[in-house]
Amino acid sequence: MSVSIINVDEKSKIPLYGVDFIGVIDRGTNVIEVKPITLCNLKCKYCFVSAGSYDTDFIVDPNYLLKKIRNMVEIKGHHKIEIHFAPYGEILLYPGLFDLIKELWNIKGIEIISLQTNGLLLNEDVIKQLEETKVTRINISLNSLNQEKANFLCNCENYNIEKLLNNILLLLSTQIDVLIAPVWFPGENDDDIEEIIKYVLKLRNKGFSEKKIQIGIQKYLIYKTGRKLKKIRPKGWDFFYKQLSMLEKKFKIKLKLGPQDFGIHKRKVVASLNLQKNDRIKLTIISKGRWKREYIGKLNNNFGIKVLLNYPIPQPEKLLGKEIEAKVIKANYKDNILTAYFSI
Ligand code: SF4
Repeated sequence: MSVSIINVDEKSKIPLYGVDFIGVIDRGTNVIEVKPITLCNLKCKYCFVSAGSYDTDFIVDPNYLLKKIRNMVEIKGHHKIEIHFAPYGEILLYPGLFDLIKELWNIKGIEIISLQTNGLLLNEDVIKQLEETKVTRINISLNSLNQEKANFLCNCENYNIEKLLNNILLLLSTQIDVLIAPVWFPGENDDDIEEIIKYVLKLRNKGFSEKKIQIGIQKYLIYKTGRKLKKIRPKGWDFFYKQLSMLEKKFKIKLKLGPQDFGIHKRKVVASLNLQKNDRIKLTIISKGRWKREYIGKLNNNFGIKVLLNYPIPQPEKLLGKEIEAKVIKANYKDNILTAYFSI
């Protein structure tokens, strides 16, 4: 299947706020979440955003992002800002990553730069660049230390656990902190989660501090448009936290991490349109989205909105540039994530 790639730069006029899968997400804290790419080298069976199989992928121009982030820091305040790269895809595939990180450090007030990765593209050279660009923390998704299980979950024959663990050791020899972030799939990787806890404890016993090597177990979440692991029924948050408490006691380790553990605190929301669910709004279709039913609408120079059609149309280009009236179906303005529905 051929995949097209859309470059999101200033000329594209695609706004960087409002759309969940590209640009910047502002949750009203000191953390600015950056989503510069939708390409992924995996197609994990559980991926809640179905990355790795989009019809159209997106890459955001680093200068365009930089301009937006500068403006956001100006409003949020030049102190204790964290830039967190968390794409719907794999960050190490982003061509402008290291240049962007270098430029970000020149913005007064940015004190932490962290990123999420599946870790498979790490190698000596990449780690050297991460070290040279002074990345603060890397979150690595690792759901099992068992090769077969990891292959199964990530839907990948070449997932090399041994190489990944060696690269984690290499990262730990730098100034970069590492957070292992397994997803717990009840009934599927229960033992694996315990093995990962033991692995982290072993590293701490070797002298790495609690800050240097962290563990953040994540709850398995299911979304309508995400991929789902067959036979796994996700449990409620109560069950999840009970399980973490049990493991905390068993292994004498802190597993319940909250915003305060990462220095996350409230800050001004940079921009909001105060849109409400069910509002009818006028917008211009500015771009195709990741799938045939999805588009990006433009509300103003700042704000975009994800637009879902009732069914895909045979010639998607026909909608580009059209002004339409759509119904808002999601308006979490604190998150700056907007979705509208348009029936043709
Ligand atoms: S879970 Fe992460 S690594 Fe796996 S397909 Fe999704 S974005 Fe890619």
